[in-house]
Amino acid sequence: MENCIFCKLASKEIPTNVVYEDETVFSFMDAEPQAPVHFLVIPKKHISCLDECSEEDQELLGHMLLVVKKLAKEQGLENGYRVVINTGDDGGQTVKHMHMHVMGKRSMKWPPG
Ligand code: 5GP
Ligand code: ZN
Repeated sequence: MENCIFCKLASKEIPTNVVYEDETVFSFMDAEPQAPVHFLVIPKKHISCLDECSEEDQELLGHMLLVVKKLAKEQGLENGYRVVINTGDDGGQTVKHMHMHVMGKRSMKWPPG
């Protein structure tokens, strides 16, 4: 997908702080962290948002969540963490390539203040 910043990060066209990658998934540190540990997990293929996922993405989505769990452990988030998928304009999504935020190392109240 042309002009998609996250596609450019996943393809290494733009360097970033890589946390993890495999055949289908890419993870990197958020540029503007909202918590002491804040990284993103994205599919390597361009999907604009959760609403654009379909049945064929079921395995990918499950895989992403298991990657989240594995990376959270590796990043030392043994005390818990928050996973967020902002979706669409009302969901506060600013980058239109679907991503899971993973945040930890601080206590986070719900709802977010
Ligand atoms: P959204 O608001 O779409 O859910 O989250 C987008 C996130 O991507 C934000 O937390 C923002 O800081 C992060 N972000 C945007 N552009 C870049 C970038 O070029 N590099 C990195 N590492 N993070 C980015
Ligand atoms: Zn993209």
